[in-house]
Amino acid sequence: MSAMFERLALIGLGLIGSSIAHATRRAGLANEIVGYARSPETRETAAKLGFLDRVADTAEEAVKGADCVILCVPVGAIGAVTEQIATSLAQGTILSDVGSVKASVIAQALPHMPDHAHLIPAHPLAGTEQSGPESGFAELFDNRWCIITPLPTNPPEQVARIRAFWEGLGSQVDTMDAAHHDQVLAVTSHIPHLIAYSIVGTASDLETVTKSEVVKYSASGFRDFTRIAASDPTMWRDVFLHNKEATLEVLGRVTEDLFALQRAIRWGDGDTLFKRFSETRAIRRGIVEAGQDTAHPNFGRGKPPKS
Ligand code: NAP
Repeated sequence: MSAMFERLALIGLGLIGSSIAHATRRAGLANEIVGYARSPETRETAAKLGFLDRVADTAEEAVKGADCVILCVPVGAIGAVTEQIATSLAQGTILSDVGSVKASVIAQALPHMPDHAHLIPAHPLAGTEQSGPESGFAELFDNRWCIITPLPTNPPEQVARIRAFWEGLGSQVDTMDAAHHDQVLAVTSHIPHLIAYSIVGTASDLETVTKSEVVKYSASGFRDFTRIAASDPTMWRDVFLHNKEATLEVLGRVTEDLFALQRAIRWGDGDTLFKRFSETRAIRRGIVEAGQDTAHPNFGRGKPPKS
């Protein structure tokens, strides 16, 4: 594919920033990739790993002359970072981001935007529980969705450029408004993470089960929650602080449904339990059929080594 951007600037060089750099290079989508992260350690690691053409010493220097800038920092940092770079953005630059919450990103960034640049928010639905510049890889976005939440003022040809960029990174792309994105993600991502954080905390607090038993017998279900509950604490703190309404709404529904299951267990109502578990099994099949997970038993994990 031919280069879409002369110079791409990435602010934040963790899992997502470094993966964008790797995937941009794989597809040849930018003639130059410049990056910046706030800590000298991350900048040094990025320079050593070599996924950028240039590591800048400041955020302002990184965005100078870039025709596309992508903020890959936690949602709570978007306002301050946008304020810092705003006056250095070139004429016609696209300023995008990858934040997991979209209405808050727009509310934080828009007041700082100069008239001559375009704020076009996006969110790749791809990640792992790893963080930092060493965790990125080019295939992260392959066959994963990326949701763009354009503003009514965005020129359609600039939205089309960001769409084509994410397709070039390997993603399938959808567009929707920011408020709807935040509701959808509360159901599909934010509340599942909250439940995982909660259940893993509860299991390790139970006095009747020792911590070593929780670890030893984790493969019976607990282990799969621990992967999600190992996700970055800063990122996830910001998600809940910035998607408060939608997550509280969904959490209310989840709590009601849990009480219904609790009631069914208490009264020996096997029909209710069987019906609910059959419905959820069908949802899992749908996810596999949509190519969003593997059909291999045990999430594709190999046989455990013989002990
Ligand atoms: P990460 O690996 O922890 O990297 C975060 C980067 O942001 C680091 O370079 C860090 O700088 C920088 N940063 C942290 N706090 C900052 C602050 N207050 N001001 C300026 N820079 C700051 O995180 P990530 O997983 O790449 O996540 C980045 C964004 O992607 C978040 O908005 C997240 O919601 C979104 N996202 C994440 C996932 C996922 O699964 N991880 C998926 C989709 C979208 P230092 O290294 O110098 O500390």
